Amino acid sequence: MDLLIVNGIVLDPSQGICGPFDVGVTEGKIADWFAPGTVQAGLATEVVDAAGCFVVPGLIDLHTHVFERRTALGIKADKVGIRQGVTTLVDAGSTGSRDFPAFLREVVELNQTQVLLWINIASQGLCDGRSELADLSLLKPDETERLIKQFPLIRGIKARMSRSVVKDSGLQPLVMAKRLAQRVGLPVMVHIGNAPPKLGEILDLLDSGDVVTHAFHGKQGGLLDENGQLIPEAVCAMERGVLWDVGHGSSSFSFQTMKRIKELGLSPFSISTDIYCENIRGPVHSLITTMNKYLAMGYPLEDVIAAVTWRPARILGLADELGTLKKDTVADLTILKWIAEPITLVDSEAEQMVGNPYLRAVNTIKSGKVWRHD
Ligand SMILES: [Zn+2]
Repeated sequence: MDLLIVNGIVLDPSQGICGPFDVGVTEGKIADWFAPGTVQAGLATEVVDAAGCFVVPGLIDLHTHVFERRTALGIKADKVGIRQGVTTLVDAGSTGSRDFPAFLREVVELNQTQVLLWINIASQGLCDGRSELADLSLLKPDETERLIKQFPLIRGIKARMSRSVVKDSGLQPLVMAKRLAQRVGLPVMVHIGNAPPKLGEILDLLDSGDVVTHAFHGKQGGLLDENGQLIPEAVCAMERGVLWDVGHGSSSFSFQTMKRIKELGLSPFSISTDIYCENIRGPVHSLITTMNKYLAMGYPLEDVIAAVTWRPARILGLADELGTLKKDTVADLTILKWIAEPITLVDSEAEQMVGNPYLRAVNTIKSGKVWRHD
């Protein structure tokens, strides 16, 4: 064995398992699990001691911006990936078809973290500013379709459906994104924010497996009406299988909204950051900080881990490969430690909440290679 991870508590929601196991890795894949202490450490080239820690599938961040050289907001993938406990990042629309070759060369190939993407339905993505859907002539669905068919790392299509992005284009960008998504059999990730378009009209266009990011923002016109009830279109969307993603960002996550959503008995399907170069300094900081906000609100640990492992993997159509510690899958693992101290957490509305205990990443293992965080 190349690597043996000993003394940890393995928590793998994809298999409903939480218990003490040692995990062996061979040639970048999960080789086997063992009862604690039954394999001699000397049989492995490298040993990681995970005493007092949780060993979980490598974390997946479904909404990030990592096109560092071509977009104003982009950040280096490894900085928010393997250096923060995240083994797979999904860039959410930084690139469209026009700059995709550069994205491949400069981001996908130059980082250790696995980078997948939601391709922007606008051909220029976020490379020429943030009103990318205002000019419908810049949407090039045929070009985008050719890339999707050629490059399996494109897992879906991004459409940012808020006022400052679409200007006078109305719902048309989403209609075009959905048409393409149906042709290629991929989901759409829709960013929501200030109307128009109205959220209800956006939701009515979405199908099972489509993702709404920034779902729990604190702006007007969100999932909740003035009485704190879900708008009817949101209830119908959930019944159809539309999925809620966090996409925290600088202005898109509110404790108030989330607490009410929790009172209604709902959880996010996936927890993601919308991390980029500014909000890494706050209020986002990292995927783990975002997870800590959910733990502080009282969501159970297993639910929070599921929301950053098998559930995003399922959205990506990769549930047999990622977000799981099943044998023969890629050896992507994150080792997390409970820190029994208070931590102050801040949402996008500058509201504070104190968490205690909180999680910290100790090691990240990507394809069997260990990255230590000290
Ligand atoms: Zn974003």
